[in-house]
Amino acid sequence: MRTLNSLTEHTVGELTDVGPKTVESFRVLEIETILDLLTHYPRRYIDRTEQRSIRDLKIGDEAMVLATVKRVQSRRTRNGKSLVEIDVFDGSSYLSCTFFNQGWRAKQLAVGTEAVFFGKLDSYRGKRQMASPVVDLVGDKTGRVIPVYPLSEKAGLSTWDISKFMQQALRRAGDFADPLPEAMRDELDLVGRTWAMHHIHAPESMGAMRAARKRLAFDELLRLQVVLVARKRRYEAEATGIRHVIESELVNEFHASLPFPLTRAQQRVIAEINEFLAGPHPMHLLLQGDVGSGKTVVAVTALLTAVAGGYQGALMAPTEVLAEQHALGVKALLADVTVPSQGGTLFEDRPLRVELLTGRATGTERKNIGAGLADGAVDIVIGTHALITDAVAFHKLGVAVIDEQHRFGVEQRAALRGKGDDPDVLVMTATPIPRTAAMTVYGDLDVAILDELPPGRTPIVTTWARGELEEQAAWKAVLEEVAQGRQAYVVCPLIEGSDKIQAASAVETYEELEGGHLQGLRLGLLHGQVPAKEREAVMNKFRAGEIDVLVATTVIEVGVDVPNATVIVIVNADRFGLAQLHQLRGRVGRGAMASRCYLLGDVVTPDGEERLGAMVRTTDGFELAEVDLGIRGEGTVMGTRQKGRNDLKLASLRTDLALVVAARKVAFEIVDPVEGLDAHPILEDEVRLLVDDDEAEFLFKS
Ligand code: ADP
Ligand code: MG
Repeated sequence: MRTLNSLTEHTVGELTDVGPKTVESFRVLEIETILDLLTHYPRRYIDRTEQRSIRDLKIGDEAMVLATVKRVQSRRTRNGKSLVEIDVFDGSSYLSCTFFNQGWRAKQLAVGTEAVFFGKLDSYRGKRQMASPVVDLVGDKTGRVIPVYPLSEKAGLSTWDISKFMQQALRRAGDFADPLPEAMRDELDLVGRTWAMHHIHAPESMGAMRAARKRLAFDELLRLQVVLVARKRRYEAEATGIRHVIESELVNEFHASLPFPLTRAQQRVIAEINEFLAGPHPMHLLLQGDVGSGKTVVAVTALLTAVAGGYQGALMAPTEVLAEQHALGVKALLADVTVPSQGGTLFEDRPLRVELLTGRATGTERKNIGAGLADGAVDIVIGTHALITDAVAFHKLGVAVIDEQHRFGVEQRAALRGKGDDPDVLVMTATPIPRTAAMTVYGDLDVAILDELPPGRTPIVTTWARGELEEQAAWKAVLEEVAQGRQAYVVCPLIEGSDKIQAASAVETYEELEGGHLQGLRLGLLHGQVPAKEREAVMNKFRAGEIDVLVATTVIEVGVDVPNATVIVIVNADRFGLAQLHQLRGRVGRGAMASRCYLLGDVVTPDGEERLGAMVRTTDGFELAEVDLGIRGEGTVMGTRQKGRNDLKLASLRTDLALVVAARKVAFEIVDPVEGLDAHPILEDEVRLLVDDDEAEFLFKS
C-alpha cells in the first residue's frame, strides 16, 4: 500500500523517459516528487460527448470543436499588434480562429495540428470565426474525457506529456493507502483513494471525475479540519484560564447608562461570552456581526467584566485611524461609568481610565501609558500593533479583543494573548464572512453571531448612479438632506499608490465639490495625511453638526458613528471591494431616519458590475459575503491566516459547503475519542506531511 509520504521519496526523474530536460520542465511547474506530480490535478476536462460539429454551429453559440489546422497566417495589424489567423477543418466545415498579441500561436498551431477550440462563434466580414478561443492540444488521445493540466509557457510540457507521465506514475504507485476507514467512506458516500486518484487524472466519464474530485477534496478539508479541531480541543483542555466574575456593578452601571436597551441578539451573545469568561478555560471566540449590529457594546461589556474583577482589558485594531475611532467611541460610551471602590468604604469610586496607544504616541505619552499598564492604573487600552511591542507590559490582562481579525496573523493574535496569563480572547470581524470560510479559516475558534440590527432602522436605499443625469440626482439628494438638517459623506475615488497620492485625490474631490455641486455647504475633509489632532477636530465638528458634508477617503470605513448622517455618495464605486462598500454604506442608516447610498460609476468591469449590482440588491452582509467569495475566490478570504491552504488544491470554499461540514464532523469523530489521531496513523502521517508546520505544531506538541 502506497502512502503519500513514500511518494515524496521518489522524484519524477526516476520515471522512464524523463531526462534532465523534462526534470527541468517539471521544476518550472514546481513538480519534483511523484507526490507533486500526482497532486498536479487537471485544471479542466474536455468532455468529448459535448463536442459539436462546425457545420451545426450558429452565430452566438458557445461551443467546443475538435478540428485540424489547415492554414496559418501571421501578420501585424495597422497599430502594430500581432495577429495570428488560422483556418481549421473538422470534416464538416471550416472555421477561422483569430488571436491578437499571441504570436506564439503560429508555431503552436502549425498546419496539421489537431486541437480542441472552445469559444463563441461570431461573424466578421461574413466569415464565421472564433476570436481568441481557448485552445487545448489533444494529440492522439482517444478517451472520452480528456484532462487538461495547468501548464506554463516556460515549462514546455504539453498536457498530454503530463498525462502520459501521470499514467506511468499511477501504474508504478499501485494501490494507495486509504486514510479513511471503509465504514466512514460508506457513510459519506466517498470512493476509495486509489479509484479517486485514477479517475481524477483519467476519468471514464464526467460523473466518475466528480466522484473522484469529491473524495480528494474531502481529504484536503479533513486534514485541515483535524488540525483546527485538535487545536480547538487543546484550547478547551487548558484549565489555566481566568474565572471572571460576571455579575458586576460596573457592567450593570454601563448597561443602565446606555440610551437604548440591548437587542435580544446582544443579550444572547453577551450571555454566551459570559459563560466562556466565567469558565476555567481561556475563551477563543469569533464574534460575527453585520455592520451596525452593535458589536462595540458587546466588546466593551467583556472588557468591563475584566475591569470589574481587577483585571485589564485591551482592544487591538489594525490601523491607527480605526484605533483612534474606537478609543473615541469607547470613551464616549464609558463617560458616565465609574469603577466602584474595591475595598469597602475606605476607597472612593474612581473614574475608569481608558487610553489610546498607537505608533503616533509621543515618547511621554508612551511612557505614561506604559507605566499605567504595568502598574494597573490603566483599565482599558485601545491601540494598534503598538500594543504587542516588547516594551508593553500589562499588570493583569484579563480580556483581549481583536477587531478585524482577518488583518492580523496568528502570531499577532498569540502575541497579544501572551501579554497576559491566559486571558480570554474575543476576535471580531467587521464584516461577515461566509460560513465555509468561517469554518475553515477560524475553525479552531468558537463562533457567536450577532444576527439582529437594533430596532427602528429604516433600510438604506441604494442607487447605482450611472451617467451625468443620475449623478446629478445623487448630489441633489445631498443638498436635500442637508437642507433638512441632516449630514452626508462623500467617499473619494480610491487611487492606487501612496497615502500621499490618495490624499491629493481627496483634496481634489473636495475642491471640485466645494466650487461645484455642493457649493454653499459646509464641507470637511478627512484623509490619511491629516494630522491626528486636526482629524479629531474635524470629526468633532462633524459630530456636532458644524460640518454638513464630510469628504473623506476610506479612513471613515469602520467605526465612524454619526446617526444624523443620512446620505453617502461613493465616487468611482467600482474601485472598491464589496466588503469595503458594505462597510462604507454602513456609515449611514445608523439612526431611525431613512438613509440613502449612491454608488457613482459609469465604466465598470464585469466584477465591478456584479459588486455594484449586489449592493443595490441587498443590505445583508452575510449575503454579500457569499457574493464576494464567488467573485474573488478563496485565496483572498483566507488572508494571512491560513497557511494550510496550500493543501487545498481541489476543495473550494465557494462550492463545497457540504464537504466542509462533513469534514468537520468527521474531524471531531476522529479527534475526540481517547486514542484520537493515534487510531488513524495514515491520516496522521498525511497531516504531518501536508499541513503547514506552523499549523500542525499545535497538534503534535503535547
Ligand atoms: P458595529 O457592529 O458595526 O461595530 P456599532 O457597535 O458601531 O456596530 O453600533 C452601531 C450603532 O448602533 C451605534 O450607533 C450604537 O450606539 C448603536 N447601538 C448599538 N446597540 C444598540 C441597541 N441595542 N439599540 C440601539 N442602538 C444601538
Ligand atoms: Mg464596530
